Amino acid sequence: MIRSVLTHLECPGCGQRHDPSMLRGLCECGGPLLVRYDLTAKKPIEARERLKGRRGDMWRYAELMPDPGFEISLGEGWTPLIETENFARRFGLAKVLVKDESLNPTGSFKARGLSAAVGMARKLGAPGVSLPSAGNAGSAAAAYGARAGIPVHVFLPRETPRPFSLEARGLGAVIHEVDGHIGDAGRAMRGIIAEKGWFDLSTCKEPYRVEGKKTMGYEIVEQLDWTTPDAIIYPCGGGTGLIGMWKAFQEMESLGWISTGRRPRLFAVQSDGCAPVVRAMETGAARIEPWEAPETMASGLRVPAPFADRLLLESLRESGGGAVAVEERRIPGAVRDYGSSTGVLPAPEGAACLLALEMLVDSGRITRSDRVVLLNTGTCLKYPEALQEAS
Ligand SMILES: *Cc1c(COP(=O)(O)O)cnc(C)c1O
Repeated sequence: MIRSVLTHLECPGCGQRHDPSMLRGLCECGGPLLVRYDLTAKKPIEARERLKGRRGDMWRYAELMPDPGFEISLGEGWTPLIETENFARRFGLAKVLVKDESLNPTGSFKARGLSAAVGMARKLGAPGVSLPSAGNAGSAAAAYGARAGIPVHVFLPRETPRPFSLEARGLGAVIHEVDGHIGDAGRAMRGIIAEKGWFDLSTCKEPYRVEGKKTMGYEIVEQLDWTTPDAIIYPCGGGTGLIGMWKAFQEMESLGWISTGRRPRLFAVQSDGCAPVVRAMETGAARIEPWEAPETMASGLRVPAPFADRLLLESLRESGGGAVAVEERRIPGAVRDYGSSTGVLPAPEGAACLLALEMLVDSGRITRSDRVVLLNTGTCLKYPEALQEAS
């Protein structure tokens, strides 16, 4: 048994510490919580050398992960990092790699976050869990809820492509369809959650989804032989992956697993149909203003008001990266271009990263010597309309 060195939960907003043995979503001040570890302990510092023989999923980093105390895994994580010579040549870059998250259980990187969060919710006594979702989070929660044996309630915008709700239902979740976007789904859920006693697994409203997502940062570095890429391009909705990866790079630096000053620049990608993060980055704002009438076929990006806005903007700014909005109408073409150039057929969210790479190269924010990682966050197979338009 490998022991986690988790010590406490901490509010990065007000600094308050919380006991990790209690089921808790937010800080008393209302802000999101992060999980903290003893990064000076000998075991995790030495663990890098012992990773080779370990299990091929995200739980290989067990010292630096919460411990649900029972087997919650469906094999999430340790996805391939694929070198795409085509893209490197096209953009004149040192390397372009695709981290293909479509190979996770339920076909997206949401599996990482929900594996950790559902496991901890069960361990700490939640009688049931609930979340609003743009699609993939709902199916992932359903899968881990089935594995953990606790009921799952998913609040989905009615316009979410059909396969998402069918998948979550097949995995035993109760689906609540709501008119509007994910923000409206969240409001509908909050109207009944207290009375039902379900634990809220919304993005960044509990601390463990970020822990699952941070493992993408650990894996990218391990897969590059303990070197960091220069830039990571990420399709951003609520931003858990960005917050998680930035946390991972900070942890690895503290552990001495990577050299100091070598953290990658993080870039958030959005659609011009819903780009609240890009707008806040461009105006230098500290908070994100809600986007009116969000519309994009990349349903994971249809998040008008990310909850952990301060953490998200800080991660982008501290990393020296930024945010770009791609043209919505070009997304289906990019799905096809990406798929036919690499053999990985990306979700529309992943395809948006290809359009973003082009913009970042054109504007000189990514340059020749750069090694770039594109995240393909999910499978395209749950988006019949996008597939139809791409073909
Ligand atoms: C949820 C999702 C995103 C956005 O992830 P966040 O953590 O909300 O930023 C991107 N792509 C896909 C396929 C998703 O399901």
